[in-house]
Amino acid sequence: MNIHTPASDPAADETATLARPTQAEAEEAVRTLLRWAGDDPRREGLLDTPKRVASAYREWFCGYEDDPVELLARSFEEVEGYDEMVVLRDIRLESMCEHHMCPIIGKAHVAYLPNGRVVGISKLARVVEAYGKRLQIQEKMTAQIANTLLDVLQPKGVAVVIEAVHQCMTTRGVHKSGVSMVTSRMLGAFRDDPSTRREFMSIIQGPRGSGEG
Ligand SMILES: [Zn+2]
Repeated sequence: MNIHTPASDPAADETATLARPTQAEAEEAVRTLLRWAGDDPRREGLLDTPKRVASAYREWFCGYEDDPVELLARSFEEVEGYDEMVVLRDIRLESMCEHHMCPIIGKAHVAYLPNGRVVGISKLARVVEAYGKRLQIQEKMTAQIANTLLDVLQPKGVAVVIEAVHQCMTTRGVHKSGVSMVTSRMLGAFRDDPSTRREFMSIIQGPRGSGEG
């Protein structure tokens, strides 16, 4: 969501403090964390690390540059008559837990029941990416993806299931490896009609073709 605050607005000061820091400031913050970890940022192997980390952050958090609503709204097409379920399964999901800034890695399955409008499947994946490449909690991300599809496409229903491993759980804290978290949001027909929901679940749980990695 883009909120433009006029310069005269008292809230503008607040906005200014949230402005993106400079590259130098970001690199200095990484040096601080390197020292916090117990190492010496002046060590040869670490000299370029702050620069690399700063640019990696731009990639990991590129979702903030995207407006998922705009992404979908620009691309839908009116189609006559196609009213079967559209499912995109096994969408690679890369996100970052907002509590620990640790990776959340998994997959998303997205479906909708068109009501005259369809979008290219790549757009569904882009919406997952736009919400994924931010600081997130999985439950919120699942709801955001579903709600956006519902608002923009106005389909008869939307279903989103996300299965993901949280590295803050596997590499620290409770150290539970092999545990994945599953969240889902069913809206419209997927919530109200058990047979629609069953069809979706059997599609996403069904056998994968041999061509998939
Ligand atoms: Zn976490």
